[in-house]
Amino acid sequence: MPPASNSTHWTLAQRAAKMNPSVIREILKVTERPGIISFAGGLPSAKTFPVAEFEAACAKVLKDDPAGALQYAASEGYAPLREMVAQQLRDQSAAAGQRWDVDASQVLITTGSQQGLDLVAKVLIDAGSKVLVESPTYLGAVMAFTPMEPEVVGVAGLADGLDLADLAAKSAQARFLYVLPNFQNPTGRSMGEASRAALSQEAARTGLPIMEDNPYGDLWFDRPPPAPLTARNPEGGIYLGSFSKVLAPGLRMGFIVAPKAVYPKLLQAKQAADLHSPGFNQRLIHAVMQDGFLDRHVPTIRSLYKAQRDAMLQALATHFPEAASQPEHNLTWNTPAGGMFLWARLPQGMNAVDLLPHAVDQGVAFVPGAPFFAGPPDTRSLRLSFVTPSVDEIHLGVAALALAIRARQV
Ligand code: PMP
Repeated sequence: MPPASNSTHWTLAQRAAKMNPSVIREILKVTERPGIISFAGGLPSAKTFPVAEFEAACAKVLKDDPAGALQYAASEGYAPLREMVAQQLRDQSAAAGQRWDVDASQVLITTGSQQGLDLVAKVLIDAGSKVLVESPTYLGAVMAFTPMEPEVVGVAGLADGLDLADLAAKSAQARFLYVLPNFQNPTGRSMGEASRAALSQEAARTGLPIMEDNPYGDLWFDRPPPAPLTARNPEGGIYLGSFSKVLAPGLRMGFIVAPKAVYPKLLQAKQAADLHSPGFNQRLIHAVMQDGFLDRHVPTIRSLYKAQRDAMLQALATHFPEAASQPEHNLTWNTPAGGMFLWARLPQGMNAVDLLPHAVDQGVAFVPGAPFFAGPPDTRSLRLSFVTPSVDEIHLGVAALALAIRARQV
């Protein structure tokens, strides 16, 4: 007879207690009503998925080398894809005026860049280690770091870079600084050339490693961003990239570029995690990207997202015409130069978490900004994604948001 199930005693690891459901997911439960226009999601527009190209690539990959595509494979990743990634980074960096000699041997293909965050956390964080993040920052990174029990310390983010005085005050003994220089999630902000140069110098001066996460860098609207931080000091940085925003997130494909000092350990962590990322998916990505497909495809994503951003800016300007002259009594917002998100701030005295259910009653959802902060939050801030709703929905959604704000304004 099997023992009665109520005799089983599960003891969870202490680190499991540190794993919490995403705060945002909890907050967003109120938004899961039919008919809500959602500026809350962080999903790429499904209109941009190159379905026909993937269909052709599936047939090609299975025909060309079925055993290779379906067999276990090297943990580092599919060699031609690693070479393609290295080449792309060399080219992009050179075009931005910075030589970066990325070699394919430094590229580790990961199961989404989210896995890159997890592997780096395992290899670089001990319990109690100090880890610096720009504040606000990507919550999925904090979720990946937390089980390793770090002390996560926020460094103030500015409109075009990091507060370097705040960084200098906090960086002693830090294991690394996690930053998103391009069209950041959640704020849509980017670091300018001067800010990058200054941050790179400061990190080199203090020996602070930088973890640079760049899933949105290709989604620029007017001009490509300045060269990556890692290109300026390759031995001092780990660079994370992703195919989620330029091809499709469902394939779960990303990569790490790491210096020799950490690559072997990241590789061992990768072997323990999943042996290797799906070989079939790696070959699909490689097949789709051959012949310069991204050079034709990514501009179509840029122009779609730019039109959506413009629609949101226009709708905001229509509904809050006095935002510039009376910022404390209006919603105010930034103008992201790429990516998927816009960052806004409510009139004084208002709180984005409190406003959300009222906005949902009016038919629109957003993500309150407070959970993205490591340290004291700006409770008036909120994140608006402009990529998933249509242009018409953007106008309706901003009108609904304006109604909700005006109704609550004292
Ligand atoms: N980093 C940032 C800043 C992100 O916004 C995301 C996805 N939302 C990721 C990493 C993870 O992306 P993926 O695992 O799909 O590559």
